[in-house]
Amino acid sequence: MQETKLFSGELYNNALKQIDLAAQTMHLDPNVAGRLKYPKRTLIVSVPVRMDDGHIKVFEGYRVQHNMTLGPGKGGIRYSPLVTLSEIATFAMQMTLKCSLFQLPLGGAKGGIRCNPNRMSRGEKQRMTRRFTSEIFNLIGPDKDIPAPDIGTDEQVMAWMMDTYSQEVGFAIPGVVTGKPIEIGGSLGRRDATGRGVGYTILEAAKYLNISLDQNTTVVIQGYGQVGSAAARKMHKVGCSVIALSDENGGIYNPKGLDIEKVDAYVKEKRTLSGYPNADSINNEELLELECTILIPAAIEEQITKDNAPKLKCKMIAEAANSPTTGPADLILQDRGIFVIPDILANGGGVTVSYFEWVQGLQKFFWDEKDVNNRLFTIMANTFQKVLATQQKYKCSMRTAAYVSAMEHLSRAMLLRGFYP
Ligand code: NAD
Repeated sequence: MQETKLFSGELYNNALKQIDLAAQTMHLDPNVAGRLKYPKRTLIVSVPVRMDDGHIKVFEGYRVQHNMTLGPGKGGIRYSPLVTLSEIATFAMQMTLKCSLFQLPLGGAKGGIRCNPNRMSRGEKQRMTRRFTSEIFNLIGPDKDIPAPDIGTDEQVMAWMMDTYSQEVGFAIPGVVTGKPIEIGGSLGRRDATGRGVGYTILEAAKYLNISLDQNTTVVIQGYGQVGSAAARKMHKVGCSVIALSDENGGIYNPKGLDIEKVDAYVKEKRTLSGYPNADSINNEELLELECTILIPAAIEEQITKDNAPKLKCKMIAEAANSPTTGPADLILQDRGIFVIPDILANGGGVTVSYFEWVQGLQKFFWDEKDVNNRLFTIMANTFQKVLATQQKYKCSMRTAAYVSAMEHLSRAMLLRGFYP
């Protein structure tokens, strides 16, 4: 097969290596494995935005659809200065596998704009979102490809996307995005779904590892955004002691445990963890190396590297972020016997409740929050057990097992649909 020059970098190549490893483990038809290494479609758009000072700034945006065998594309929209085409293509590939692992009738996609949303006004962000939506209009839709929030985007951004798409069509189409506000068709429970789902997989892992979840069980979380804060609330609620948290400005540490309600109130007011009283400050490197039972990376990719992996002092890692562990670090963690709940399993709660939101929207029938959470728990627990059984069958890592489980389902569907033309 001809090599593509469009996608490169360690993140992308590591995802390809994971696919190779899973394909070898399960003896997958090389034609199927080979196809999974290439996205179906890639759109690069220029997004001109009138900034508040009157000048026009042009941002670069992407939407990548990786594989749509199982259904419409599904995947977040990321606003960050670090966004690249290769990064978005990597995450689109992982979305394909995540949706397949959870047996959702959805394919994999991802989008993003290289920008710094923290340095933009609300008006600038709104104009950028609307222009981006109109540039990718032809690719998205409730039956085609359904964006959702990711780093740097939130319910408000989804509301602007939904409105822009609906204005172009002529009537309200809530199903074009998920993770939107309740008032315009969002699902109860979606906001906390990813972090809550991380908690549910930890409950299952703890049962398997005979770890009791109580005050003596310590949790460290990197990243206190939508996912990290929800994971903290869940772990606090089940009785664990959350001893350290961080955001991009640094972290806070209290070995006796942090009061998550108070932390939330502080962050709501100050927009950062920095300066939180009753805790020592700590930097992100130190935070990852703290002694704890459970480490939850919930910020950005490539945080656990070959340099810090030998120094981690946790029993379990639940990957709330996408690709927080590099390939070489993964091997070190395996050697050291640290139990890893891989990203496509641990953070699948977000896309699962996005799927619930999409279904509720199509049926125009909305569930109560208990219903959403109960269904989420069942799916997360069953999927965890499926991956564990695969891990035991093939005697491989949990990550490879998650990829194998995902690729078993997807490859059957690909072979049944057959090769076109
Ligand atoms: P967010 O923008 O709400 O929060 C990100 C958090 O990480 C913020 O607290 C930010 O300050 C912090 N951060 C950024 N750079 C950092 C750094 N270098 N060191 C430490 N902290 C840093 O984003 P989110 O939606 O919570 O997403 C977090 C991760 O979870 C991402 O990897 C995302 O892809 C993944 N994820 C999100 C969802 C979802 O539903 N939002 C679903 C699946 C996976």
